[in-house]
Amino acid sequence: MADLEFSVVAEAFEAMERITSRTQLTLLLARLFKRTPVDVIDKVVYMIQGRLAPDWKGLPELGVGEKLLVKAISLAYKVSESRVESLYKSLGDLGLVAERLAREYRSKARRSTGLMAFMEGGETKLTVSRVYDTLLRVAFAQGEGSRDIKLKLIAGLLTDADPREAKYIVRFIEGRLRLGVGDATVLDALALAFGGGAHARPVIERAYNLRADLGHIARIVASLGIDALRGVEPEVGIPIRPMLAERGKDPAEILRKVGGKALVEYKYDGERAQIHKDGDNIIIFSRRLENITRMYPDVVEMARKGIKAGKAIVEGEIVAVDPETGELRPFQELMRRKRKHDIHKAMREVPVHVYLFDALLRDSEDLTSKILPERRKALEDMIVESEEWRMAESIVTGDPEELWSFFLKAIEDGAEGVMVKAIHRESVYTAGVRGWLWVKLKRDYKSEMIDTVDLVVVGAFYGRGKRGGKLSSLLMAAYDPERDMFPTVCKVATGFTDEELDRMNDMLKPYIIPRRHPRVDSKMEPDVWVEPALVAEILGAELTLSPMHTCCLGAVRPGVGISIRFPRFIRWRDDKRPEDATTTHELLEMYRRQLRRIEEAAPTEA
Ligand code: ATP
Repeated sequence: MADLEFSVVAEAFEAMERITSRTQLTLLLARLFKRTPVDVIDKVVYMIQGRLAPDWKGLPELGVGEKLLVKAISLAYKVSESRVESLYKSLGDLGLVAERLAREYRSKARRSTGLMAFMEGGETKLTVSRVYDTLLRVAFAQGEGSRDIKLKLIAGLLTDADPREAKYIVRFIEGRLRLGVGDATVLDALALAFGGGAHARPVIERAYNLRADLGHIARIVASLGIDALRGVEPEVGIPIRPMLAERGKDPAEILRKVGGKALVEYKYDGERAQIHKDGDNIIIFSRRLENITRMYPDVVEMARKGIKAGKAIVEGEIVAVDPETGELRPFQELMRRKRKHDIHKAMREVPVHVYLFDALLRDSEDLTSKILPERRKALEDMIVESEEWRMAESIVTGDPEELWSFFLKAIEDGAEGVMVKAIHRESVYTAGVRGWLWVKLKRDYKSEMIDTVDLVVVGAFYGRGKRGGKLSSLLMAAYDPERDMFPTVCKVATGFTDEELDRMNDMLKPYIIPRRHPRVDSKMEPDVWVEPALVAEILGAELTLSPMHTCCLGAVRPGVGISIRFPRFIRWRDDKRPEDATTTHELLEMYRRQLRRIEEAAPTEA
């Protein structure tokens, strides 16, 4: 098996740390990918993102705390733990400590054995596989005696690492690699390296949307070329990135947007589930593609009994219901269930129903390229309905009035609103895309701003007075998918209880970084910069234009961006990744809609 020296990767890591532009980052990654043998390209792709596999594989955590890492460094470089700790105090980064001690250790070894002997005998060059496989073994070492095993594995790796490698191995283990490489950057780099340039990006992206495993996709394109990706179809066991909806307000306008007649379904207020079935084997993926199978033994059972096809991928919403009446309960109820430790007790207290709305694979047939009416028919044909496992409530209509009464009925029944879905000739399943094929119409929040938005924390400010010394307001950003950047929208300082504030300070800690993250676009200078990772739901009075923010900069008027007046924190959205935040494009739409409403409300001359 062809391998790559780990020093090449460590060198790239170091270069990436100095880069502040995303274009340079992409170029550097593309060069690294080209140098990487096919056999290990998946490992390199995972490692630059600071992980060993996609999150949905649910690999155990490395389980190496600071104490153990200090021990490993001391063991590797034959120095006392107190020396490691005192260096850590002065350098503030265990990666730098390891780098320094590795350098000292090597020069001592050279002096005592003589340079030649050291070169010939003592030095083992690390490879990507050795580092990756060792870290994998660290993760899988569980239970009794595992601390010792982890310690020895890491120390062994560090002993053989050169100073730079040691720095990055330690940072990786600590979860502090922070290179700012998002999925979109990897896709761009793969297009450059193996597709001949940016024009190959859509092909790679499509494949990734259908099989959300960047390492797997990198391996296919690196070994078989870009054409091999064109034929990629969904595979049971690998999650498909979910199709998402735009938001609408007016029934007639929504129907126009989806092309007239549409399938209108209840928009249930629960958790999205992508259910994969292979014989008796069931896996459930969440909206952000985490494996949530263990949380829902009841749904696993429903799917086993309720899907006739041997192999299938279907989508539905898991909703909490009243144990007595079977009526729909809100999302918060489902979260209450998820927080409970005893899952079987939780299952009894908060039972769930599943409302199915899509089918993406049936046996070996890829349904994502089929139009919605065909997918829907396939779904109906392959499931066996019961009280708790059934099709989403729906009608087909082209009449705004009928849509509206169905919407009111949905709300009365405890749903969040409706989903209006196109059924025309192009109504295929657009994995990973938020578009006008699906439009959501939701219950109004009692406020001026029609809908809340989900924004990403990119910075924070210290409070004054009672809140002095604590981070108490947040710089929030939207997501710009075209540029793969996070431009700022507003500063949020209200809506936090004191308790929430304390929790927030703890939550932010691991994400604080010394400089602006390369994917953040900001005119403001917060007291601390935060890596884009945490998403919060924000409600405001209205959307405004602001010269301080970079969201949709210049799109409405030169030099100003879109912002939110009186933004208020509502809750954390743990189920969303930063790339799932409200997009710049959605905010621009919302802004335009607000303008239209104001214009419509203005008195006209008689
Ligand atoms: P929101 O923030 O409004 O909850 P979202 O950003 O998570 O939504 P959207 O695409 O905006 O995702 O809304 C679609 C979500 O609504 C889906 O992810 C799914 O969980 C849920 N949902 C409920 N009922 C349906 C349905 N009948 N069809 C599709 N999605 C549905």
